[in-house]
Amino acid sequence: MRILLTNDDGIFAEGLCALYDALCADHEIFVVAPEAERSAVGHAITLVDPLRVKKVKRGRYFFGYAVNGTPADCVKLAIHEIIGPEIDLVLSGINRGANVGINVLYSGTVSAATEGVILGYPGIAVSLNAYREPDYCFAAYFTSCLLKSLVKMPEFGRFCLNVNIPALPPNKIKGIKFVRQSTARLIEKFERRVDPHGNVYYWQCSERFTEKDPETDVVALNEGFITITPLHHDLTADKAIQILKGWQIDF
Ligand code: MN
Repeated sequence: MRILLTNDDGIFAEGLCALYDALCADHEIFVVAPEAERSAVGHAITLVDPLRVKKVKRGRYFFGYAVNGTPADCVKLAIHEIIGPEIDLVLSGINRGANVGINVLYSGTVSAATEGVILGYPGIAVSLNAYREPDYCFAAYFTSCLLKSLVKMPEFGRFCLNVNIPALPPNKIKGIKFVRQSTARLIEKFERRVDPHGNVYYWQCSERFTEKDPETDVVALNEGFITITPLHHDLTADKAIQILKGWQIDF
């Protein structure tokens, strides 16, 4: 396949390089990724500043294109300008840290894959459930296996797939679960600090999920399953349309 590879951790992130190395023997890989980390920018795009593109080497060899924009910018720019429309898949990751539950809404990794689907390509986001000393080896290997299987599946490419992989030794992983995205709220905390000039500032820290349902991405990942959640970007609350039709709005 001709794969557009991107992420939100930046073009030199270990997770992206691991995916590149695992896939480059079997696929043609085109890397277009943010020049610096843009985690948690969601589906943001850059409108008020110009987008600049730099060719980037890894060691002595050309590796890809670094963009001073968001993950969604990278996908748009890659397909419209840098690489062209002749690609078979938009692959985003491997992200450092899980993208499950409502964090999917904040995720730049997932938004890059969604952008691919909006533009008419299959989109897959891959994340590893680890922040400290992540080992991307198995996650990259699993992704290469996943792609080999997916291309044979009916209707592959109709959905954006959000894949999350536990940070466990391969023999401790319980299997693959197809689950829905949890919508349970997060328990969040802000740490209030004071800088040397006496100004108050805040760090967002220690978020926890309140989800209990085992058929959700949050719980299944936590239990040691690889989770795959199909996503769609139509945000319409379908059931509400009928209710709204019963409303009377005077003007
Ligand atoms: Mn990230």
